[in-house]
Amino acid sequence: MRDKQCGLVKDEDIGKTLTLSGWVFRRRDHGGLIFADLRDVTGIVQVVFSPEISTEAHGKAGDLKQEYVIRVTGKVKKRPEGTENPGMATGMLEVLVDSLDVLNTCKPLPFQLDEEETNESLRLKYRYLDMRRPEMQKIFTTRSRVYKVTRDYFESNGFFEFETPFFTKNTPEGARDFVVPSRLNPGMFYALPQSPQLFKQILMIAGFDKYFQIARCFRDEDLRADRQPEFTQIDVEMSFVDVDDVIAVGEGLIKHIYKAVTDEDIQTPFMRMTYENAMETYGTDKPDLRFDLPMVELTDIFKEAGFGVFKKTVETGGVIKSIVLRNKTLSRKDLDTAVDVAKELGAGGLIWIRKEKGTLQSPIVKYLSDDEKMAMDKTLGLSDGDVTFIMADKRDRANENMGKFRLYLGKRFELIRKNEFKFLWVVDFPLLEYSEEEKRYVARHHPFTSPQGNIKNFSGDYLSIKAKAYDLVLNGVEIGGGSIRIFRMDNQLEMFRLLNIKEEEANEKFGFLLEALEMGAPPHGGIAFGFDRILMMLLKLDSIRDVIPFPKTQKGTCLLTGAPSRIAQKQLNELKIRTTVEPT
Ligand code: ASP
Repeated sequence: MRDKQCGLVKDEDIGKTLTLSGWVFRRRDHGGLIFADLRDVTGIVQVVFSPEISTEAHGKAGDLKQEYVIRVTGKVKKRPEGTENPGMATGMLEVLVDSLDVLNTCKPLPFQLDEEETNESLRLKYRYLDMRRPEMQKIFTTRSRVYKVTRDYFESNGFFEFETPFFTKNTPEGARDFVVPSRLNPGMFYALPQSPQLFKQILMIAGFDKYFQIARCFRDEDLRADRQPEFTQIDVEMSFVDVDDVIAVGEGLIKHIYKAVTDEDIQTPFMRMTYENAMETYGTDKPDLRFDLPMVELTDIFKEAGFGVFKKTVETGGVIKSIVLRNKTLSRKDLDTAVDVAKELGAGGLIWIRKEKGTLQSPIVKYLSDDEKMAMDKTLGLSDGDVTFIMADKRDRANENMGKFRLYLGKRFELIRKNEFKFLWVVDFPLLEYSEEEKRYVARHHPFTSPQGNIKNFSGDYLSIKAKAYDLVLNGVEIGGGSIRIFRMDNQLEMFRLLNIKEEEANEKFGFLLEALEMGAPPHGGIAFGFDRILMMLLKLDSIRDVIPFPKTQKGTCLLTGAPSRIAQKQLNELKIRTTVEPT
């Protein structure tokens, strides 16, 4: 039905008669001539209806409306001088139409496709219209390309692609499972995989020593801005590897994807930072390094402080952390706002000290001794116009709140270098964390993650045990994470003991993996990258929903199909399921 796609009409077509098909994007009536922008996924080409060429086509063109589907045949010619549009790939050309077929009509649109539509509900309900917009067509063209280059990369590095089941058992990622009732086994449920974690480990034991999958994962969590209940991971597992090997493969992949999409070479190896350093310096395990503002600890300087808040914090084991905003002479109003923001972010308070004309100014300055002021000035290297912000609190809280405040400062004072891609591996995560809710240690990553060192030698301070785990962070967003796994049963049992997971429970949940570990499991490890997040970052978009063809709302609903929905009583009966609530 066409000789070419619209966006691919080129200079070399001048003089040829072509048949083109697509959608009417815009239409303009200029007296005798009617112009239409004909659009398909490759772009737009201008078609011109002139009564001198064909009265019939010109007549029909008068009735064309937005998004009508048409086919035209006509001669490609250079646009008359002065009417070219160099901003458009086909902007030097137009097609003079001999014949026009209207293949389909289109009702009035719920929103304009050539304007940015801000009502997201409308966009999601009419996703097929939204996806016709040129920006969206670019996004999904890129998405398609990233699948391909991902496969190319793994293929050329000797990886095997596998699909693992959707109907499976618990996965160990620690979120809530989505479940599917089994009609053939009434009262029993499958869990949808939170990741292919256990299967990819089984594949290592099966001898397929380099695995990858572009895998759909399902997690029943409350949705935040960059979360979706189903999302796509680039999932990887390798045998006979340690941390550096997995990291090298990960860097290779990211470099390959970025090159393919942006044609830019990103520098590898990426920077690495320990978890501890990230927390102490940036207050988060996913620091945005597109701007500086590191935290500096002042606990030692102020431990004897005349200022009560500092003194008391230090006496009760807390810390004093600071951030210097350099060379931004802030007004009193800016400073008051900063204090309010810090409190809204969860801080107990925020103290500011600014340097003007060589002296420190602050409501608390009168409580500080000259020695303290000098020591602070020297440690922070202050100049006129600098403001030091200080929080005094328990270490974790001070770090976390200062970390959030740092992000606020970065945005508010436009310190973020928007065009940079700052990759960072965060390594040496703690193996465990303490769950107040469950009153036990839980795995920070998952219970198959290997500790650094011999697990049997650990005693006492379990929170200080480090894991062979790593996260890849890009501009403050976690885009990947993984670990080297425990591959021997004796060590795995020890891990369950640390986690206070009874053997019975472990067997019930992961018995098949445990059994396999005893059948010649090789050392192995892996990683998973968030496919959607990588795309979002690569295309500099704010929402993960923009890169997923059919995303869910914050409430987990699909506005296009209306899922989730009730099912017929008959279906419930077949599943032997009785619901206890009336859906609202
Ligand atoms: N399965 C992990 C996840 O989905 C990644 C990994 O350890 O490979 O977060």
